[in-house]
Amino acid sequence: MTHFFRRGAGLAAAALFLLSGCSPPSGVPARTAAGAADTIFTGRFVTLDADNPEASAIAVADGRILAVGAASDLQRYEAATTRRIALPGVVLPGFADAHIHVMALGEQLEMPDLRGLTKAEILNRVKEAVAVTPQGEWIQGRGWDQGFWKPSVFPTAADLDGVAPNHPVMLTRIDGHSAWLNSRGLELAGITRETKAPEGGSILRDTSGRPTGMLVDRAIYLVTKVIPPPTQAQLERRVVAALEQSARWGLTSVHDAGVDLQTIGLYKDLLAAGTLPVRIYVMAQGTGATAEHYFARSPEIGLGEDRLTIRSFKAMLDGALGSRGAQLAAPYADAPEETGLELMTDEAFARLLRTATDKGYQVAVHAIGDRAITRALDVFEQTLGDRPDVRFRVEHVSVLNPADLPRFARLGALASLQPNFVGEYSRWSEDRLGPARVRWVKTTRDLLESKAVVLSGSDYPAADSGSPLGTLYCLVTRKGVRGEPQGGWFPDQRIDVARALQTMTVVPAFAAFQEEHLGTLAPGRWADFTVLSADPHEVAPDDLRDLTVLRTVVGGQIVFDGEKVSMR
Ligand SMILES: [Zn+2]
Repeated sequence: MTHFFRRGAGLAAAALFLLSGCSPPSGVPARTAAGAADTIFTGRFVTLDADNPEASAIAVADGRILAVGAASDLQRYEAATTRRIALPGVVLPGFADAHIHVMALGEQLEMPDLRGLTKAEILNRVKEAVAVTPQGEWIQGRGWDQGFWKPSVFPTAADLDGVAPNHPVMLTRIDGHSAWLNSRGLELAGITRETKAPEGGSILRDTSGRPTGMLVDRAIYLVTKVIPPPTQAQLERRVVAALEQSARWGLTSVHDAGVDLQTIGLYKDLLAAGTLPVRIYVMAQGTGATAEHYFARSPEIGLGEDRLTIRSFKAMLDGALGSRGAQLAAPYADAPEETGLELMTDEAFARLLRTATDKGYQVAVHAIGDRAITRALDVFEQTLGDRPDVRFRVEHVSVLNPADLPRFARLGALASLQPNFVGEYSRWSEDRLGPARVRWVKTTRDLLESKAVVLSGSDYPAADSGSPLGTLYCLVTRKGVRGEPQGGWFPDQRIDVARALQTMTVVPAFAAFQEEHLGTLAPGRWADFTVLSADPHEVAPDDLRDLTVLRTVVGGQIVFDGEKVSMR
């Protein structure tokens, strides 16, 4: 086991001790070693457990691992009723995505995907949608990135008006932090020359003061509030589709970043129906009705055999780099009058940290720009500087001030990274930041060597790919999921497969206070497996993204069998 995680295990013990007064972690069922298995899985297991790294069989009872070893040794767990399942390929501990947006993923699956398209291709898609959409209905899409275009500039309403003169259109940028509207859309949202941008948002304008059609961060609400909300049935369909997609990608756990009460309600419905295929660790919205609801209650830990946990709040200190909403300490290189957006004050954030911690919740804070990251660490240090046990999470950590690098390890703040951003950032972040700061974008190896606890997620759909194999490939090659740039982007930040896999399995489990239950293949843990076509340790770095997921197993149940997704 690597050094940084041994340190984490110490924190884990401290945290369990501190929390034992308010809410006990769901316990490992008492069971003697001689108990019979309901299932014995055979195959080639790479356990990521340093004491027992390889095995050819795993015995499972009631969803948990009873024993790991050689197939011949595990015969003693076999009873007349025991199922034997031979798994193909190579079995690893189930992959977690430590930062994903489940509802947005479901929505993305229903919408035109604009990822990687030129502006002309996007306008063509909109034209096609206009032809089949009843007049007056909104046309929406997501995933465009002006970083692919020449010239690489924000689009305008006029671009869209040519193909959609009558339908309102809203196309969300890949990061979800800006939106491109046509004139009809602006009109329905009541956005005119006179409209003031709400706090934490901006309405881009031309030299005459007219809105161009681009809205950033909180200004997007001016539009989303006039778009008819999806029905409950639509929302449920999206959640189910997103979780099935997650299982197909080989994910057994997702950390859902910024979830509202309605969605948590849907998760509970699916849990009650026995149709939640993967585990969900909820970062509840840290403001508004959802926060109020949970602040008045205790965390909900390990519901439905650890399938659903609500014990974390997500806060947002700034926006995103691509939309120039990330809060920087010095102006943007390509917009010298801008330094980004502040979405939450230090005072409000300190209040959230204190209240959440008092109630036994974790806080995960979105901080992308160097200024926002410094603020996140400053407020944490001033408010809870002696509490590494709360496992404070900084989500994204995109533009790091080198002076902040040692603070993660020192404060016990976790760095939650999205390795696949390398693709997107390599396309345009030097424009935004200039040559000095760009070297400090997504500095994975530096963080690990500083002894920071580093975990990986995709931020999908605010990213090029939601596949954990994409994440693995990006960590090891420092190329985006499309294989660019050729030699890797700041290749000195590459890490090896073993360390990369830790950030996708063991460390997310720790970041969710679930290290007793998830992360390695060891007795007492849930039988969560990701079955791959080959062992990533034995695959050339460039071939990692050609690996395929053959099976996904959650709690001993096959939830993805290579062709279709089955729900428990
Ligand atoms: Zn996110």
